[in-house]
Order: sequence, then structure tokens, then C-alpha cells
Amino acid sequence: MESFPKALLDGYRTFATRRLPTEQSRYRELSERGQSPETMVIGCCDSRVSPEVIFDAGPGELFVVRNIANLVPVYQPDSGAHGVSAALEYGVSVLRVNHIVILGHAQCGGIRAFVDKIEPLSPGDFIGKWMAMFIKPGEVVEQRSHETMQGFVTRIEKAAVFRSIENLMTFPFVRTRVESGELLLHGAYFGVAEGSLFVLDRTTKEFQSVRDPSPHP
Ligand SMILES: [Zn+2]
Repeated sequence: MESFPKALLDGYRTFATRRLPTEQSRYRELSERGQSPETMVIGCCDSRVSPEVIFDAGPGELFVVRNIANLVPVYQPDSGAHGVSAALEYGVSVLRVNHIVILGHAQCGGIRAFVDKIEPLSPGDFIGKWMAMFIKPGEVVEQRSHETMQGFVTRIEKAAVFRSIENLMTFPFVRTRVESGELLLHGAYFGVAEGSLFVLDRTTKEFQSVRDPSPHP
């Protein structure tokens, strides 16, 4: 146990002495009757964008899957092992969540790697192959004239949320429940520096701030 990160041991002890006492009954209850979260969140691995922290969620409230750049692949029922698809199947068909939130964010390293077309980080180039599914065959993604690099990156970070929502609908078990009104799909975007949250208005295709209006205009 000597090599186990001290910060994690300390963190657990803090959890066990401060948070657990207030949530022990909730954990016991969840242990006995199982989890039944209403919401599934598909977010990025980024250590700054923890859904449970951002949404102030307790145990059993969020069913979370995180991957590079919060991407949902297209439904592909082949012999491959698909982690996100397995999580989706469990969340939608077994837990029967009522909401799926795709949580994008600012300064996403996966999107930055995609935009910069960086050299593969490893011989397997898992990131490059993973990010490649973001674009459709024949689709060209490039910086627009008069668009700053920052503007371009932000646009692509938000486009990843749109694409993931689009890809969710290629899963028959998602589409069926969306069409029957039992499942709602949402997009959100987290601004890391300000801790701001923007929710996608699917009618206007705009992300709108959900923070309370500032008392200082
Ligand atoms: Zn990210």
C-alpha cells in the first residue's frame, strides 16, 4: 500500500469521516435495491470536467461514461468490443434512464489534437483513430476564413456535442425510447476557467448559459 497515492488515501479518509456519515443510509439503500439513476452523462476523461462535481450529484444519481472528447460512436453491431455502446445499452435498456446528457467542454485536449492533426502519441495512435470517428466519410473540417484558432477549437468542441447526439440516434434502442418520449437527449458545454455551464437549445442550436444572472451587470 506504500505506493498507493497518498492524496487518494487522504481523500478517502476525508470522504469516510465527512461525507460518508451523511450519505451512509443512501449507500445502504442503493446497495439493497440497486441503482436507478434518471440521467446518463457522456463526458470527457478530462480531470477538470467531472460530471458529479459539476452537477453536485450524490451516489446513485448519475450513470456516467467518460472518454476522450465525449464522443458517441455510430451504432456498429459487429464483432468488436465497444465500450461506449455497452454503457449506452446498459444505461438505456437496463437502467432505463430518462435523460442522456452529452457534456462537452472548453480546452478539450482530444479536440485540440484533432484540430492540430498532431503526430500520433503512440504506435497504436489510439487517440487519432478514436477522434477520426468524429468526422463522417468525405466530411472536411477546417478553420474558416476570419475565424480565430480559438474560435475554431470552440466550434469543434461544440460540434462534438452535436455529433454525439446525432450518433446516439443511430442506436435502435435509443431511437425507440426517444420517439416514444421516454428518453430525452441533451447537450451541454462546460467552460473550465469560469466554471460556467451552457445547455444546448436544440431548436435554435445555440448553447445558452444557465448561470443565474449576475447581480453586478
Ligand atoms: Zn476533453
